[in-house]
Amino acid sequence: MIPFPAVAVVGYKKSGKTLLLEGILETLHRDSPHLRPHVIKHSQEPLPSGMEDTMRLFPHASTVEGLFREGSALLTHKLLPLPTYPEEVEGDLLLLEGFKEVFRLPRILCLRSPQEWEELSTGLELACFSLSPMEIPGVTLFGPQEIPELTARLLTSGFLLPGFDCGGCGKKSCRALAREIVAGKASPKECVNDSSQEISVQVGNQRLSLNGFTGNALRNVISAYLKTLKGTGDGPVTIRFRL
Ligand code: SF4
Repeated sequence: MIPFPAVAVVGYKKSGKTLLLEGILETLHRDSPHLRPHVIKHSQEPLPSGMEDTMRLFPHASTVEGLFREGSALLTHKLLPLPTYPEEVEGDLLLLEGFKEVFRLPRILCLRSPQEWEELSTGLELACFSLSPMEIPGVTLFGPQEIPELTARLLTSGFLLPGFDCGGCGKKSCRALAREIVAGKASPKECVNDSSQEISVQVGNQRLSLNGFTGNALRNVISAYLKTLKGTGDGPVTIRFRL
């Protein structure tokens, strides 16, 4: 589990996803300027039109990552290493646009019609958003005026599970636990794979899998060494060298 909120904004084309994200980013910039939102947008559009749409999210995000048919682009106010995994993003809040097939975090559904609720709902809905008023029995719809309320909800209820589907939480998959968390019947803390405690090793573009014993041993050796150095504080550790 990453130690900060995460949510995906999901919906069909022209359902208001980018407009909603712009509103969320503006609200955060105004009300919580200390937060550094990291946005990853999955675009079906070819470049350059996909890039133009993505640029709309840039003014108030610390980093925007665009995934396009032709490849990916990272738009950032400063030089950062390109994150390979969402767990490695630099920021305090992760916002995904698109990513319908990722089921380990809650989502805000952007709807153009009640029928789309039938097609897109998965039990992971933190909220539903629509540009125009409509009635869906049992569903509370937020409109553009309610974006600050939606933003507060994602800050308190957003999360991202690791996606290992290991069963350590007693559920058969991360998706199953995610659904229970969204329903208020479980907590993200039930995930036994807390990535803030996890050690990860990447060689080139390949992330190595470490079992619990090896990972703990490596972390203990590095921690013990670092603690002998002057000025070592707390926080994530990054060590880079070439094999
Ligand atoms: S403990 Fe549960 S939520 Fe965590 S990685 Fe394993 S299956 Fe997923």
